[in-house]
Amino acid sequence: MPEMPEIETIRRSLEPHIQGRKITSVEVLLPRQIKWPEPESFVARILQTTIAGLDRRGKYLLLQLDNQVSLIFHLRMTGQLVYVPSMGQDNSHHNRLIIHLDDGSKLIFSDTRTFGTLYAMHQDELWRVQGMAELGPEPLSPEFTVAYLSKAAEGRKTKIKSFLLDQRKVGGLGNIYVDEALFLAGIHPLRQAGSLTLPELTKLQYTVNQVIAEGIADGGTTFRDYRNGNGEKGSHQEHLYVYGRDGQDCRICGTPLEKIKVGGRGTRFCPHCQPLEVES
Ligand SMILES: [Zn+2]
Repeated sequence: MPEMPEIETIRRSLEPHIQGRKITSVEVLLPRQIKWPEPESFVARILQTTIAGLDRRGKYLLLQLDNQVSLIFHLRMTGQLVYVPSMGQDNSHHNRLIIHLDDGSKLIFSDTRTFGTLYAMHQDELWRVQGMAELGPEPLSPEFTVAYLSKAAEGRKTKIKSFLLDQRKVGGLGNIYVDEALFLAGIHPLRQAGSLTLPELTKLQYTVNQVIAEGIADGGTTFRDYRNGNGEKGSHQEHLYVYGRDGQDCRICGTPLEKIKVGGRGTRFCPHCQPLEVES
């Protein structure tokens, strides 16, 4: 699933192509992925509007239109949002929504597994977008401080891995970057969030920001489906320490990496670099 670095890369790669363009027609190919309003009104809300910009909140992309409507995409597992220039070739086989722009170019939402969701919302309806209003502070934002993390984790028995995946606690993180941040901070994924010391939380706040910044700098991580807005893969998969390295040795100490499930999610860690301390 694309996480904050992938969604941010999509945003940056798309915005220069589409800003200022007018939406001239819309093809809805799979109406059930439109969650609000019903498909006919959805199209009416975005048709003949001009794109003011493309924003991101957590893992949501918000296409800002000049009529104060936001066209919101949540790509979830396999959704892609790609720009196809006029005369350009559309290589996707699972198109679900095609937005035609006034210069003959297209913005195409495709999605193999169809878990992605679409909304066309007036500003006073944003609370209806599942999960968006409850988003916690995101990495690299001024609100994501050690003091915030410390307060949010206080007294929590939740495993730190599950805590970081909870979008209400920290917005935008997913399985890849959480495993990487915990590794770099030397924190075992099964530790209780409330058991982390201030020095550990300080390190974790730093490594979360670090992995997200590096992920963005590398244009995201591509294992399977993720592509940026120009249809290109990211390169951060070449720099991962634990995620996707099942059965391999730790890059730091040479110990074989281990894989466990935490809250149903596959989790990779180094048993030497991330010891599970005895909790009282
Ligand atoms: Zn190690």
